[in-house]
Amino acid sequence: MRHRWIISACALLAATAVAGVAVPDAGAAKFGQRTLKPGMRGHDVRVLQKSLTRLKLPTRKTGFFGGQTTKKVRLLEGRVGWRVDGRVQRAEASVIKRLVAEQKARKRAVAPGTAVFPIPGTHNFGGAEARFGAPRSGHSHQGQDVFAACGERLVAAQSGNVKVRAYQASGAGYYVVIDGSDGFDYVYMHLAKASWATAGTYVSAGTQIGRVGASGNAAGCHLHFEMWTSPGWFSGGAPVDPLPYLLAWDAYS
Ligand SMILES: [Zn+2]
Repeated sequence: MRHRWIISACALLAATAVAGVAVPDAGAAKFGQRTLKPGMRGHDVRVLQKSLTRLKLPTRKTGFFGGQTTKKVRLLEGRVGWRVDGRVQRAEASVIKRLVAEQKARKRAVAPGTAVFPIPGTHNFGGAEARFGAPRSGHSHQGQDVFAACGERLVAAQSGNVKVRAYQASGAGYYVVIDGSDGFDYVYMHLAKASWATAGTYVSAGTQIGRVGASGNAAGCHLHFEMWTSPGWFSGGAPVDPLPYLLAWDAYS
């Protein structure tokens, strides 16, 4: 299929050369399908320029491989340790694509104010008794339980400062309360053991704060997760149903 395309493209080039028409610019080529070099035009040149900008080498998206693009390609080549020739080979293009993908992933994980799902591994939300507001003896459930295998990584859903790190044998077990950068307090209970994050520590969203466990009064390993409105957990705020937030974060993280 690819072979046939190359033959027909050659035939087209030959035909236009004979007719004295300018050589077509292969403007429909996908980034990585051909070696890009100064003087070329096309959609793939535009993708290259956009990628350079994402990699902190701002380049105008003109679709023409001119002097600015050449300069930025040479800078990237020097930075990555490639031969500095101002050209982008196909293999280099695939590395550039990977670098851009990694850059995007990093951005998702650390952008301030962006929350992530607190258990990266396999998890489920249990039944009715796991829900916010489910009846408990003498009170109602103030959070949402999230079930996962014992020892699964537990990460901060939102960035913020650790407000409380404590242990309660009769209930929460090992737990952490984080004063979130968005105003909510985030509460994580039944950790397998005490979190490394002591009171006052700043943690960014996605940072591991412990492992899923069943410490305290817990039937099986799970995270008991609460969200409290400002000014926060047992300091004037009120608990809200965290499930809609959890579902939203679960959809992308
Ligand atoms: Zn619970």
